[in-house]
Amino acid sequence: MSLGVMNHDNPRWQEFRDRLEGPEGCNFREKIPGDRETLTWDCKAGRDKTHAIAILTAMGATVSEIVASCEYFTAQGGFCDCEILFNVGTRRLRPTRRRTTRRGLVARRRKNPRPRIVTNMDTGEVTEL
Ligand SMILES: [Zn+2]
Repeated sequence: MSLGVMNHDNPRWQEFRDRLEGPEGCNFREKIPGDRETLTWDCKAGRDKTHAIAILTAMGATVSEIVASCEYFTAQGGFCDCEILFNVGTRRLRPTRRRTTRRGLVARRRKNPRPRIVTNMDTGEVTEL
C-alpha cells in the first residue's frame, strides 16, 4: 500500500515527524545535554528537504506523493527540513470532527443548522434532534 500524501491527516504523520526530528533526519540534539540553549540540528535550510524526502521514500511514498507532500509542506511554511517540524501542522486550530460524504468530500457544517425532525412511524411521536 502506498503512503499517500504526507500531511497531518495522514495516519503516519506522527511517525514521519518523529523520524524527521530523529537521527536519520534533522537529528535535534543539545550540545550540552540538558541545556536547551545549546539545541542544534542538521538542516541545509533554504528549500532543502533532503531528509524529508529520504524519510518519505523509506516510508514507501511514490514520487508523485513526495512531490505533493513537499508542495503541502511549502504551502504551510515548511521550506526546509527543520521548518517542516517548526511550521507544518501547527496551523490546525483544534481538532474538528469531520464528516465525510459518500463522494469523499468533507461535509461543511451549516452556520444555522435547522433542527431535524424525526417522526416515529409506529407511534406518531415527533422528536426534534
Ligand atoms: Zn531548516
